[in-house]
Amino acid sequence: MAVYIDSSNRLLHDQAQSLALTCPHCLVLAHITPMAVPPYSELAAHRPRQVGIVYRCDACNSPIFLRFNVRAYGAQRVELSPQFTEIERPREKFTFTYLPESIETLFREALLCYSHGAFNAFTSMCRRTMQTVFELLGESGRLRLFDQLHELREMAQIDAASFALLKRVIFGSDADPALPALEDDQAGLLLEVTKDLLYQAYVRKGRLQQAMVVRRFFSDQGDRGASGSTGAATGAGAGAAEAAGSATSRSGATAAAGTGEQSHTPG
Ligand SMILES: [Zn+2]
Repeated sequence: MAVYIDSSNRLLHDQAQSLALTCPHCLVLAHITPMAVPPYSELAAHRPRQVGIVYRCDACNSPIFLRFNVRAYGAQRVELSPQFTEIERPREKFTFTYLPESIETLFREALLCYSHGAFNAFTSMCRRTMQTVFELLGESGRLRLFDQLHELREMAQIDAASFALLKRVIFGSDADPALPALEDDQAGLLLEVTKDLLYQAYVRKGRLQQAMVVRRFFSDQGDRGASGSTGAATGAGAGAAEAAGSATSRSGATAAAGTGEQSHTPG
C-alpha cells in the first residue's frame, strides 16, 4: 500500500477506492474523499514530519481531518505512511439515566478516553468504573457480574487470551493492581463488555422498574375513574412521570432529562 503527494499536488493513494471510516459527525461507516491536500512545493520547502489532509465524508459531506506520518521526501513526490491518525473520533454513547451518579461520572470519562484513542487511560477508567460498581452492589453483585462476564464470553465467542485480559481489567484486585496495555481491537471489546455489564447491572433493571410503576399508576387511575373519581388527564400524566422517577435510583428530573440520549442496545 502506498500513499504519495506528487509534484502536481495530487494525492495518489492505491487504496483510495476502499478508504472508509466511521464518520465522527454522522457516525456512518462511509467512504471519504480527499478535498484539501497540502501543495508539494510547501512540503518540500518545510519538510514537516507529519502531513494533514482534509477529506469529505461521502455520507454527510462533513470535513474529516486525517494526519499522516511522512516516510520520505523524494525528488518528485512525498511518500506518506498508509496509517493515519483520526483527529476527531466518533463519540461513544450510552444511556446514563439509570446509573448512580458516581458511576456515571467515571464511565463518561472512560468513553471520552476511548473516543480520543487514549486506550491506557480508557482501561484505567473502566477498572475504576467497575470497582465503584462492585462497591455499590456488594459481594453478591460482584459475583453476579462475574457470572455475566462468563455468559458474555460464550455469547460473543471471545477467545481465551482476550477473555483473560478483560477479566484482569474488570475484576483485577489489589493483589494484582497492574493493568495490561490494550490494542485497538481489545479496547473495543472492553468497551462493549463494560457497557453490557453496566446495562445488566443498572439500565435493564431501571427501565423495567419504571415501566412497571407507570403501568401500575395507570391501572390505579383506571380503577379510580371507574369508581367516579375526577382526575384530569394531564395531571395523571405528570403524576405518572413523577412516580416513575421515584422508582429509579435517580431523581425524576434527571430521568426525564436523560430520555433524550441515544438508547444503548446490548450485544
Ligand atoms: Zn459523515
